Amino acid sequence: MQDTDEMTPHDATGPDNVPAVSKLSTGQALNTPAGLKAIHAAVRSGRNPLTDTDVPRWEDEVGVDRIINRRVLELEPLPTPAQVLGELAMSVKDQDLVASSRDAIRACLYGQDDRLLVIVGPCSVHDPRAALDYAQRLARLSAQVNNELLIVMRVYFEKPRTTVGWKGLINDPDLDGSHRIRRGLLLARSTLLSVLDAGLPAATEFLEPTSPQYIADAVSWGAIGARNTESQIHRQLASGLSMPVGFKNATDGSVKPAVNGCFAAAQNHTFFGIDHLGRACAVETLGNPDCHVVLRGSEHGPNYDADSVSRAVTQIRRELPADSAAAHGLVIDCSHGNSGKDERQQIRVVEDIAERLAQGEQNITGVMMESFIAAGNQPAAPLNQLVYGQSITDRCISWPDTASLLRKLAEAVRTRRWL
Ligand code: PEP
Ligand code: MN
Repeated sequence: MQDTDEMTPHDATGPDNVPAVSKLSTGQALNTPAGLKAIHAAVRSGRNPLTDTDVPRWEDEVGVDRIINRRVLELEPLPTPAQVLGELAMSVKDQDLVASSRDAIRACLYGQDDRLLVIVGPCSVHDPRAALDYAQRLARLSAQVNNELLIVMRVYFEKPRTTVGWKGLINDPDLDGSHRIRRGLLLARSTLLSVLDAGLPAATEFLEPTSPQYIADAVSWGAIGARNTESQIHRQLASGLSMPVGFKNATDGSVKPAVNGCFAAAQNHTFFGIDHLGRACAVETLGNPDCHVVLRGSEHGPNYDADSVSRAVTQIRRELPADSAAAHGLVIDCSHGNSGKDERQQIRVVEDIAERLAQGEQNITGVMMESFIAAGNQPAAPLNQLVYGQSITDRCISWPDTASLLRKLAEAVRTRRWL
């Protein structure tokens, strides 16, 4: 914070000589727990605390209610990252897995390891029990194909929406619009730790700029999604993340924003953030050299075909250093715009890539698949109304189909080694 004597003097007294904003600078929490409870209750009963004068708000009390927080209600202070990391601490064994899997992913990205990186799992986690059930199945299969595939499970908690919808387990863990973020953070972290305990490294999309402080230590591969690939906030974030990060092509299919994202995230940045005690701070990052492009197709069609891949690789190599992870190769997301969000088409995309790998394709470093226990998807609803193990966001390939596709990919890598 700026020293008091450096601040521009300003007479904050109003017409009645009342010190209008002085309480704002006391550093005290302005909303009392009782006040927060009353605001919450008012919101839940459909009232508007901004206009209902019987709901106590600090803004009214301090006399700034006409200008501050006209559209914001502060509902719940969250625990600090330090508190959450302390409460749900990672075992040394899990730390070893995170560190070694990040190294292994890097080795694949730079071509020192000829295994195929496979990022596979549900579009989103809505039921930690089903996610863990899936993780145990995937871990058993991973052990069987470990010589050919480096399998990382998608454990996605934050969903970017084209318009509106369920925003993921962190934002709304009870799937009912109650948005209990405190509970969501703890649930997300404990799910990640269980996946690691099952022996699998985890991948996630980073969406909120401050949530990584609570979970990123348990993540081995990160994504910046198609809707955010051009966002400076997300590029800055990626520049400070400890794991390799994939930038998706933009939703219109353009690859350039992802290439620019890789370039920007490799540089050092200074920006607004929070520290482990939850305090606002200037964050300075060193830059992330392990960023790469993920082709996910678009609303105009797929871009997993050989021509699109070679065009994208040429574009990447024109813009980025020859020895960068991005210049070495890219990841194909077989879902989303590459499958028209149809899991049956996604299966055909994976099979097509397996064939090309077997014929010697070298520019594809990894594939991403959206897969869960049951095929397809269902509308979001509270857990007791849902089909077990089925996605509530994008359509997913069933577990049996996933297992056979992973075996096909492993076979393709084995064949490629003989070429
Ligand atoms: C996803 O991975 O589920 C996702 C939302 O991807 P994209 O950003 O490519 O739409
Ligand atoms: Mn998805």
